[in-house]
Amino acid sequence: MNTGTQLGPPDQYGVAGHPVAHSWSPFIHGMFAQATAQNLVYRLFDITPEEFRREVLRLVTGGVRGLNITLPHKQAAAELVNELTPRAARAQAVNVIAHFDDATLLGDNTDGAGLINDLEQNLGLELAHKRILVLGAGGAARGVLAPLLERDPRQLIIANRTRARAAALAREFADLGNTVGCGFDEIEGPPYDLIVNGTSASLQGEMPVMPAGLVGEDTVCYDMAYGRGHTPFTLWAKSLHAKRTAKGWGMLVEQAAASFELWRGIHPDTKPVLEALAQYR
Ligand code: NDP
Repeated sequence: MNTGTQLGPPDQYGVAGHPVAHSWSPFIHGMFAQATAQNLVYRLFDITPEEFRREVLRLVTGGVRGLNITLPHKQAAAELVNELTPRAARAQAVNVIAHFDDATLLGDNTDGAGLINDLEQNLGLELAHKRILVLGAGGAARGVLAPLLERDPRQLIIANRTRARAAALAREFADLGNTVGCGFDEIEGPPYDLIVNGTSASLQGEMPVMPAGLVGEDTVCYDMAYGRGHTPFTLWAKSLHAKRTAKGWGMLVEQAAASFELWRGIHPDTKPVLEALAQYR
């Protein structure tokens, strides 16, 4: 047994993505581990789509006990694992893998819970009967659709650069509520109550061109991307006089806490980490 004075080798974890250098997950999991006295290391693994399957299997057979999965691998991860939690099966996207002693590779999706916790608990939003616009139809969007629809919004529009992906996603989730998929140029006003940017455009310093009339003063504009200062999306929202904008720091920390719990059986307190990150926002 590991004790404070006689530590065995630390358990290995990490995040797999491409790109991944911007990730704050090592910092967050490092703080969680320290606060809960867990002997672990957490690393960045930059893995291309072509190498994803081979590299992840190499890592887990080499002793890695858990991985977070970030862009663009969330759907590939859902195909790779040999067991999915119900919410990951619904999303067909995985943002956390746990490798158990019996060789099970379990895929879960904590992105949805992370976003909802941040919107409701940290930002104090009420989602029932609201009109919601989600931009993007990649792995992150997949993870948040079911939890958003479960809050019973009046309408949820999914808009994507590649229109067909948004339309397919809307069909896939239509049993959960009123949802429609479209291209960016087809989105119609009046202003939404909440717009969630789940595209990776902010990471490329871009904001897709949007029709007029989607944002009003009271539209809450949430960018899943995070970084210092404004993103192209939050700048766009501010230019249209949105009073409330937010970035994905809270979602990041909340989904990380749920991942940590899957791996270590302890739900860490997210507050000190959010406070520590405040200086970088
Ligand atoms: P994916 O690679 O799976 O999907 C990318 C999505 O962005 C697709 O819908 C793609 O459209 C769209 N896109 C990419 N580039 C552009 C562009 N220049 N203009 C318009 N649309 C574009 O990525 P993920 O879904 O995994 O991640 C999306 C974002 O969400 C990232 O910024 C990621 O960091 C963030 N994220 C944050 C989390 C958090 O905890 N805060 C958690 C999860 C994700 P198309 O289909 O046309 O290619």
